[in-house]
Amino acid sequence: MSEEKQRRPVLRWAALSVLSAISSAALFGLLGLWLLLRPDGPLPDHWNPTKRLTVAAPVTIVTRFQMMRALGDVAECRAVLDQAGVAFAPMNDLEVDENCGIAGRGQLSKLANSRLNRVETRCATVLRLAMWEHHVVQPAAQDLLGTSVSSITQIGSYNCRKMRTSRGSDGRWSSHAKANAIDITGMRLADGRRLSLLKDWDGDDPEAAFLRKIWRGSCDWFRLVLGPDYNQLHADHFHLENTGWGFCR
Ligand SMILES: [Zn+2]
Repeated sequence: MSEEKQRRPVLRWAALSVLSAISSAALFGLLGLWLLLRPDGPLPDHWNPTKRLTVAAPVTIVTRFQMMRALGDVAECRAVLDQAGVAFAPMNDLEVDENCGIAGRGQLSKLANSRLNRVETRCATVLRLAMWEHHVVQPAAQDLLGTSVSSITQIGSYNCRKMRTSRGSDGRWSSHAKANAIDITGMRLADGRRLSLLKDWDGDDPEAAFLRKIWRGSCDWFRLVLGPDYNQLHADHFHLENTGWGFCR
């Protein structure tokens, strides 16, 4: 027998072994994934990317993925808010033109643990607000002020207008034109104290520290945030935006 003929079965055997090792690994991998992700599997929901976001669940590396899915799907967004106890009464979409309108529209009057003066906005804006309230605002109030926030004051979300800058009107449309932002001016605490950005932002007291902490923390849950340190136009409010490019000032 030639050497060439002897080598061939060995090569074939090696190739077959490698193939079967790869397919076994893939099979075990799939089986493991199926065991983890099935409805009664051992993985907690907040670690399972196939599960719906729960506002009050601990934050994990999966939370952002679950949140992005809910932000992009109005039905899922509404279900997440319902489950969290957020009062967001559904309304028909507002269709104005390509620049203005509200998709996923509703009337917000309460987050999970604080009231809000009523506002018409879109579900995605409410969802980010709900995550901020639960994971930033209430814990910061407990830590720094020893109480909870009972209500949040907003001065508007939807407004069909162009952007305002310190030099006047900008040519571009504001994120408010599609209710992709909300402006927050202050809070009332459960012990009766009232905080306003205009009066309480500057200073060394716990109230100022609280406002700065929730401003910093809002950057984790919104895509663009403008506060009193940005410019004079924002001296009295946080502009919290659902769109934008990660700017926080
Ligand atoms: Zn604004």
